[in-house]
Amino acid sequence: MAGSPLKAEGKRCGARRWNGQLCRSLLLLKGNKCKFHGGMSTGPKTPQGKAKSYAARDAGRARYWQRRLAALAGLAGNEDRKPKA
Ligand SMILES: [Zn+2]
Repeated sequence: MAGSPLKAEGKRCGARRWNGQLCRSLLLLKGNKCKFHGGMSTGPKTPQGKAKSYAARDAGRARYWQRRLAALAGLAGNEDRKPKA
């Protein structure tokens, strides 16, 4: 976010934090809340987008199980002792 015009203007979020203080984080480009309080994406809206998302989810799960089963079958438990790749 270097060079953001909002930084120069000093606009701050102002949302109430968990401890009662104001947030005061720099604002994002649009809206009047920071990256923490602006609200995140709630996911794909269109049927096409949802289908793509579900496909990616299933593909990821398939990759996970491929890895997991290969590790269980081929390496007989040694995989867990290796440092994370
Ligand atoms: Zn905030």
